[in-house]
Amino acid sequence: MKRKTMFLLILGFALVVAWVTIITDEQLRERLGSNLYIIGFSITGCFLLLLAGYIWDQTLVKALRSLHDTTNAIQTEDIPSTGDESDSDEIIGLARKIEHMARSLQHVEASYKGIVEDQPDLICRYKNDGKITFVNGAYARALNRKRNDLVGADFPYFVPGAAIADEPYTFESEMTFDDGRRLWIRWTQRAIKDDKRNTSEYQAVGHDITERKEAEAALLRAKEAAEAADRAKSEFLAIVSHELRTPINAIIGFSKMLSSTTLNLDQREQVEMINSSGLALEKIIADILNLSKIESGKIDIERAPFSIRLCVQDVCALFAPKARSLALALDSKVDPGVPEIVNSDEPRIRQILTNLIGNALKFTERGGVSLEVSCARGEPIEPGSPRRVARLFFAVKDSGIGIPADKLDHLFLPFSQVDTSSTRRRGGTGLGLIISKRLCELMGGTISVESRVGEGSTFRFSILTDFDEA
Ligand code: ADP
Repeated sequence: MKRKTMFLLILGFALVVAWVTIITDEQLRERLGSNLYIIGFSITGCFLLLLAGYIWDQTLVKALRSLHDTTNAIQTEDIPSTGDESDSDEIIGLARKIEHMARSLQHVEASYKGIVEDQPDLICRYKNDGKITFVNGAYARALNRKRNDLVGADFPYFVPGAAIADEPYTFESEMTFDDGRRLWIRWTQRAIKDDKRNTSEYQAVGHDITERKEAEAALLRAKEAAEAADRAKSEFLAIVSHELRTPINAIIGFSKMLSSTTLNLDQREQVEMINSSGLALEKIIADILNLSKIESGKIDIERAPFSIRLCVQDVCALFAPKARSLALALDSKVDPGVPEIVNSDEPRIRQILTNLIGNALKFTERGGVSLEVSCARGEPIEPGSPRRVARLFFAVKDSGIGIPADKLDHLFLPFSQVDTSSTRRRGGTGLGLIISKRLCELMGGTISVESRVGEGSTFRFSILTDFDEA
């Protein structure tokens, strides 16, 4: 029990004993005579005073305790002990603690103020009518105005009556100033609620995104310029290739006609060279036009039923004379799991196979080339449908010169060739693989290569297709 409470109890007890002694002792009462009432009132008065003091004391302690508890909840530092708490006066102890907490709060407020002031972001608070109540240094600097002039002014993005939800609301806006400056700011606004969840104020934090916006605008301008250049390039290629095709067709046609006339050996050789150069030129133009069409998204993939086995046979038949002339084997194998008829773009598949088999024969001196086709059957295209998705896998293997490991990554880039020397024996544009890659991608597939120098290469690609289950 506290000392003060003990003292009050003893005092109260002494007053009660004195009063009881006076009342019960007849001689004493007679001796006191009329003074008895004065003493009686005094003792009762003292007792009531003591009681009132005690109740007041307890009420005060209760109020201070609740204040202490509230401040404890936001206390950031440890309160130093005021000595032996049980012995000290509780009111003085609590008052000291509260004073210390008030100092702590001041300290915390000062440090938060510092953080707000040091922010590069624009921070302001405004009332329900849009009038600003606080701005930080960054806000005043951005607007090139004094703080005092801004407090009481209107927040520029305040919408009268617009309710701001509990969640922060973010928007971007451009601020223009009298001196011609323009700033892009990303604002995050939130409502500040009081204890009763009523909105007392609004807070807006603005982040300067001018640099990002300018970079985006520059990027957009660059993109538009690049697109315009791309369109110009495609148009140029289309016109040039059209203009070139007519004379090249004439060269090829006339060289064929010439070769059917009577020529001596030298002349025949020269006519053959004119013919093969014309054909090579025609291929280069076709490749460039093809790639520019793919890159500008002007190629549509068809979906029509066709036999993959017949397609493979045709492509191999096309290359058979060349393989024979090079004394190379050319084999094909279609896995029994491959459906007879699939829906896809046959001419595009032929084009990829022609590129890969053509390359394989071009870069192989001994052994041969093989083409393998397999399939992974998937789910019906929709529940209950007899049509199922399938992925076709193609592998073109050769026993040729192979490709160095450090060149493999660049192989599927435009105009990429392993042998770039002017003395290289094998012709080509370096466009076949990139065209094949783009076509695979358009058909929902990928293309890859494995190779070892001197041991050969395997080009694999897949396409997504579908077929009717008979
Ligand atoms: P190109 O018209 O030059 O053949 P491609 O894009 O089809 O253009 O091929 C690019 C380069 O990749 C070729 O020049 C060659 O160096 C290399 N390459 C392609 N296929 C093979 C292969 N089967 N064996 C070795 N090298 C290959």
